[in-house]
Amino acid sequence: MSEQAMAPLKRVEDQLKKCVKCGACRANCPAFSAFGREPAVARGKVTLAQHILCNDIGLDDQTYLAMSKCLLCGSCVDKCPNDVPIDEIVIAAREALARKRGLTTFHSAIAQVIKNRSLLKMGTRMARLLGPLFFKKVPATSGLRLRFPVPFIGNRRHLPHIARKPFMERHPEVIPGETGKPRIIFFVGCMINFVYPEVGEAALALFRHLGCTLIIPKGQQCCGLPGMSGGDLDTVRELAEKNLVEMEQFEADYVMSACATCSGALHRLYPLAIGKRNPELKARLEALAAKTIDASQLLHKLGLNPAETGAGSDIRITYHDPCHLRTRGVTGQPRQLLRAVPGLELAEMESADRCCGLGGTFNVYHYDSSMGINEAKSRAILTTSAQMVATGCPGCMMQLSDGLKRHESSIKVAHTLELLARNLGKVHY
Ligand code: SF4
Ligand code: SF4
Repeated sequence: MSEQAMAPLKRVEDQLKKCVKCGACRANCPAFSAFGREPAVARGKVTLAQHILCNDIGLDDQTYLAMSKCLLCGSCVDKCPNDVPIDEIVIAAREALARKRGLTTFHSAIAQVIKNRSLLKMGTRMARLLGPLFFKKVPATSGLRLRFPVPFIGNRRHLPHIARKPFMERHPEVIPGETGKPRIIFFVGCMINFVYPEVGEAALALFRHLGCTLIIPKGQQCCGLPGMSGGDLDTVRELAEKNLVEMEQFEADYVMSACATCSGALHRLYPLAIGKRNPELKARLEALAAKTIDASQLLHKLGLNPAETGAGSDIRITYHDPCHLRTRGVTGQPRQLLRAVPGLELAEMESADRCCGLGGTFNVYHYDSSMGINEAKSRAILTTSAQMVATGCPGCMMQLSDGLKRHESSIKVAHTLELLARNLGKVHY
């Protein structure tokens, strides 16, 4: 096999050697629970990668299928006694596959859209304008479903509405706060910008309540995670560089995101997947990672008093841990904040830390398995008798809503920040 194609796997060769094949990763792998076969689990993927490096097997259809069966949820990384970085290994294998076989049609299309902000804007505007042609409301007030199947998405999925006006078009680049208070760059992310702007509004309301200066760099791009899912590291690098340039022009204490996936990309995956192979970017990406923080984590650190900001009607809620927060240890902070909101009763669901099944583009290629994984999550939520489920990732919000609608449940899905800002106006709950 060509050296060029094998280079990404060569880079993780030493990491592969750390795996002792103990199988501890099986117990917590959502992909293994869905497919029930060894190539789906971390140990199987390590073995596969080792055989590819020995030229025993090729970068063929079977290998592609096996490597696509991973949600990059990091559960195996958490549990592995030897710290085998499976996310890094799977990303490297996907990159090797993309180099050998080219990007899939889907990932080529994704690359064009995420690299071109105007195309992304135009696409979402068209989707909104032509919405009634393509979508029907299901049920009347809480989501959409395609009227007919379209490539990659089919027509079984419940989709959220697209915002009338993207979040970033509603606000100036700098919103000054009080002297001496933190200066915060808000990395908005595509889902909050185009689909859930109310989450961005809640973030602004909360950090302004604390007197912080908010900076929303106008040139910020997609974090690139959809490209990472498909092994398109060239696109991820391009986006990472653009985001660096955008953010480095401002002096700030923190880079905050209310999207667990985006902050996960900036915090862990940029240094891991881009920094390691681009020495000229390494130090800059590490500096960005050091400043990156989840919104609920930062509110907790800055001493938000939810009794002031979140009071409202009485609601029983439950909380789902997004994988990209759980793997970074952000589990206690959102719960502590939510418990301090007058009127909110937090009922823990079983396995709140279990992946919701979204997994980036995993849910596009393996929709039935993705919803199979989600089924346990939906049942756990329903068992709590909560009226609402809170979480810290817009991707999880979409997936949880889809799962609950399959059960014809009226349980609402909200972002943690929306519940913390109930008292501050301009937010939904
Ligand atoms: S838990 Fe870690 S060391 Fe054990 S089989 Fe899985 S990846 Fe290998
Ligand atoms: S990252 Fe998640 S889905 Fe992928 S192998 Fe590890 S536990 Fe399984």
